[in-house]
Amino acid sequence: MIRLPIWFACAGCGYQAPADRPVPLRCPQARPDDDIDHVMARVLDPARLTFPAGSEANPFIRYRTLSYGYHVALAAGWSDADYVSLIERLDAAVAGVDGGGFRVTPFARNAALSERLGFAHDGGVFVKDETGNVSGSHKGRHLMGTLIELEVAEALGGGSTARRRLAIASCGNAGLAAAVVARAAGRDLDVFIPPDAHPVVVARLNALGAHLTVCERDPRLPGDPTYHRLREAIAAGAIGFTSQGNENGFAIEGGLTLGYELAADLAAAGTSLDHLCLQVGGGALASACIGGLAEAHMLGATTADPKIHPVQAQAVAPLARAYERLAHRLDTDEPSDADIAWAARHRSAFMWPWESEPHSIATGILDDETYDWLAVVRGTLASHGGPVVVDEATLLEANEIATSTTGIDVDPTGSAGLAGLLELRRHGRVSSSETVAVIFTGIRRDVASDADMLGIRVGGTR
Ligand SMILES: [Zn+2]
Repeated sequence: MIRLPIWFACAGCGYQAPADRPVPLRCPQARPDDDIDHVMARVLDPARLTFPAGSEANPFIRYRTLSYGYHVALAAGWSDADYVSLIERLDAAVAGVDGGGFRVTPFARNAALSERLGFAHDGGVFVKDETGNVSGSHKGRHLMGTLIELEVAEALGGGSTARRRLAIASCGNAGLAAAVVARAAGRDLDVFIPPDAHPVVVARLNALGAHLTVCERDPRLPGDPTYHRLREAIAAGAIGFTSQGNENGFAIEGGLTLGYELAADLAAAGTSLDHLCLQVGGGALASACIGGLAEAHMLGATTADPKIHPVQAQAVAPLARAYERLAHRLDTDEPSDADIAWAARHRSAFMWPWESEPHSIATGILDDETYDWLAVVRGTLASHGGPVVVDEATLLEANEIATSTTGIDVDPTGSAGLAGLLELRRHGRVSSSETVAVIFTGIRRDVASDADMLGIRVGGTR
């Protein structure tokens, strides 16, 4: 039995996936209501991996040696070229559906934005622009990562997943990206959506051939009704085609490319970041960036890590609440592995669904729970950063500043990380000589009508 340089273990209970059969997407030891935060997570052997230094335009090709499926395929006799051609075939199919395939996205200091926020020349704001990515956000990265793993397993005859339906709960960018990737692969996709899903999104999902199910909220049942239906579908045999890791351990892998790209660009520029502000809903974006940067650091690509600031809307901030609860329990700000293991086994002490339905202009981060909460809290504590909670006026101001200074047509959810930076600047927690990064992800639909719908007055001059 060959031990690969990457394997999977449950971050909640410690279950280790056997090396001689396909990795289960969900932890097989999970039991209903056991209060353990089961997530199948990657474990790396840094002695057997190097951080890729290639310059291929496609991130799944550039960082292929850090994907689990690559090592599975090579152990089964594939050549490097075989694996690359699989990705090229899938990427061409995505381009056929969406007009373009996956490419490493731009990341640079933005002079106008830095000046607007009062930064000095030695500090400033770096923007990673994901609005030009497949389907207009970073979400497709997670789903493409999962698709590659499924396709490798099926090609090797190790996974009988080919005819199983894919399923996701989303009425936004994750659902759209899932529909594009599923369509490209010729796979059936169920999308569970709320009754108030945006008509433009519904029309696009239908056009992409996704099977939609509208899920009404039951006031007696806490938690997101679309998420409940997703879990029922998974229990009935569907594959969780999500961006969060708890329903599919492979989901994080494609997202890690975001962190790898940040690390590689910073190293190439000979600089480092003091802070990274990340909008948090379900937690996939933050856990992906934190994980990618941590792996890059482990493999020697970077030497300094930014302070992590998860940003949530005042309307609903379960991650900030979980962070405060864990930080309060700790004697030090350096949590031990035992502290984290304890938290993973007492999920309900930290995370539970909202009690009443919130409203915000940043609709994409209004998740009932932060599903990937523990990875984000752990990364935030380890970095000596801290969560930020922002009000509606700040979310709107950030979006106006983002679009007017950078020209990037990002939506208010996608610029919510910048709202966190505005808040940190107001309170003197980020100085003018420090460097900060934000990720703009999610292309804007129509801010004015969203604001009208919520009875919010849009400030600014745009
Ligand atoms: Zn487990």
